[in-house]
Amino acid sequence: MLNLTKSAEAFAEAKTLMPGGVNSPVRSYANVDCNPPFISHAKGSKIYDIDGNEYIDYVLSWGPMVVGHAHPAVVKALQEAAERGTSYGAPTLLESELAKLVMSVYPSIEVIRMVNSGTEATMSALRLARGYTHRDKIVKFIGCYHGHSDSLLVKAGSGLATFGVPDSPGVTKGVAADTITVPYNDIDAITRVMDEHGDEIAAIIVEPVAGNMGLVLPKQGYLAKLRELTEKHGTLLIFDEVMCGFRASLGGAQAAYGITPDLTCLGKIIGGGLPVAAYGGRRDIMNCVAPAGPVYQAGTLSGNPLAMTAGIETLKIITAEPEPGEPDYSRKLTLQTKKLVLGFERLAKENGVAVQVHQAGSMFGMFFNENDVYDYATSAASDQQKFKVWFKTMLENGIYLAPSQFETIFMSGAHTDDDIDKTLAAAEKAFAAVAKASK
Ligand SMILES: *Cc1c(COP(=O)(O)O)cnc(C)c1O
Repeated sequence: MLNLTKSAEAFAEAKTLMPGGVNSPVRSYANVDCNPPFISHAKGSKIYDIDGNEYIDYVLSWGPMVVGHAHPAVVKALQEAAERGTSYGAPTLLESELAKLVMSVYPSIEVIRMVNSGTEATMSALRLARGYTHRDKIVKFIGCYHGHSDSLLVKAGSGLATFGVPDSPGVTKGVAADTITVPYNDIDAITRVMDEHGDEIAAIIVEPVAGNMGLVLPKQGYLAKLRELTEKHGTLLIFDEVMCGFRASLGGAQAAYGITPDLTCLGKIIGGGLPVAAYGGRRDIMNCVAPAGPVYQAGTLSGNPLAMTAGIETLKIITAEPEPGEPDYSRKLTLQTKKLVLGFERLAKENGVAVQVHQAGSMFGMFFNENDVYDYATSAASDQQKFKVWFKTMLENGIYLAPSQFETIFMSGAHTDDDIDKTLAAAEKAFAAVAKASK
């Protein structure tokens, strides 16, 4: 049995200090009816709690730690950068270096603006789209998460496509009314919305590979249809690749599916574990951002030298030319992830547990569900009880997964074959526990 005594005490105190004891909701483990381990440190593929437990980490800070924790090259560069001062609020060569590294794998990004979080990137991209098109309405898809800015905390009422209602107290009806929500992967629904309202819509924002309702892949032809509809109506297409960027493929979902968006939001990996995100795209659109243009957006710590350094070092590692005959970094991650996918599918079958397993590059998701999962409704129909048993058994056996099947899990370059074997050994026990609990 896992000993989490110190973590439990720490959590009790934290609850008196922060809402729910945490600074971001999913960390509280409320979904899985247990206390979260409090983390002391992490190295490579492993994460350690204050009770002395070691886990193989597939959360990876919700995606960013693609080269593993405390990678020596990243740590060294950060130490040297800290000696030179931690923030100047003035231009540096580091910002241009990170910009050029990003553009080398995202040719759709001609001009980029660095910000501090994915929330800021999507919020700013939408303001820009509205400023550029002189239109107010936006479309988002149910189950896609784009951070917590007001316009995007909106869900549909009943009906196929409706004007939005707020998803959180504090979001005004007025803001929500400009957000139209549509089911993901439903070509008829988005075609109808665009036929009726297309000429009033500034932008369609989408996770081109959706990772916030579990991992849900776009159906064949779906992203191409979004590109076609937006072009027809003079609406901008925004790919929110904050999660799938550098993961669905090195060049993100846009490279994997061959679709060029007008604007792209990046985050998570781009900062290598420090708070960085960015939005960028077509030069004529981006040049509407202040001070080049009239759409205002700013940030005291944007382009921060430590944050840029972590991003640069991480992107250098993942974009490096491979040794002759070796697969490149993201191909290696994809192959490692595939081993988990195949292993989980085999073990689930052997134990008679119905699952849907999805993979996109180094992203991985599993639903306890007998049926196909392709949108929010089908994802939400997955079995929560089975997930809880699975999650707890994995944790007790040293595997640190996201505490919800509506989160994606991730592979890093630090995960070894031995890690994967240990993970599959734990999964064997976990599927057996799920099978037993469902009898
Ligand atoms: C994580 C995420 C965000 C929000 O980024 P934060 O840095 O948490 O604000 C936005 N969009 C997507 C697709 C994400 O996965």
